[in-house]
Amino acid sequence: MAILDLKYYGASVLTRPAKPVKRIDRELLKLAQDMLESMYHYHGVGLAAPQVGVSKRMIIVDCGEEYQEEPYILINPEVVSAEGKQFGPEGCLSLPEFFTDVERPDKVVVEAMSLEGKTIRINGQGLLARALLHEIDHLNGVLFTELVSDEEVLANEIPVMKDRIRKILSGELPAVPEYEEDIELEDRVAVEA
Ligand SMILES: [Zn+2]
Repeated sequence: MAILDLKYYGASVLTRPAKPVKRIDRELLKLAQDMLESMYHYHGVGLAAPQVGVSKRMIIVDCGEEYQEEPYILINPEVVSAEGKQFGPEGCLSLPEFFTDVERPDKVVVEAMSLEGKTIRINGQGLLARALLHEIDHLNGVLFTELVSDEEVLANEIPVMKDRIRKILSGELPAVPEYEEDIELEDRVAVEA
């Protein structure tokens, strides 16, 4: 397994639709394992293949025991239905340390293929719904900044984030942020996907 480099805001792979997976082969299985390891490494609750530079429709989601018994590795996921509303903080591993409130449906049903090639259906609520929708958006080339209605937040925060990305890419800042307290880490990673 390997830790993969993240693609950040500004990378073209993040703003174009990813291609459907046609075949579950060894290469895809390895990508899934590497994505899983990378997601935990960067303290995310989700990761989409375009975020590691692979334009394929595969996502990983692990919101923890409260939401799921094991990590989801989903191929060609589709939102079957969405209902309700939640409004809360969201973050993205490709948009380092940019957190803001975003409205999402509160409940979703997602259908996808497992690594074994079986069709699976997942009911997600709360954080799990948010993470599934966030990752599926990535497959459509959509970043959560598109859901932010407060123009002022974007105008203020995006330049700061771009500067942070520049520093990460040049090695001035670590790719995995160092937080002062664990408790803060818990709070912040809870929504980063
Ligand atoms: Zn993201």
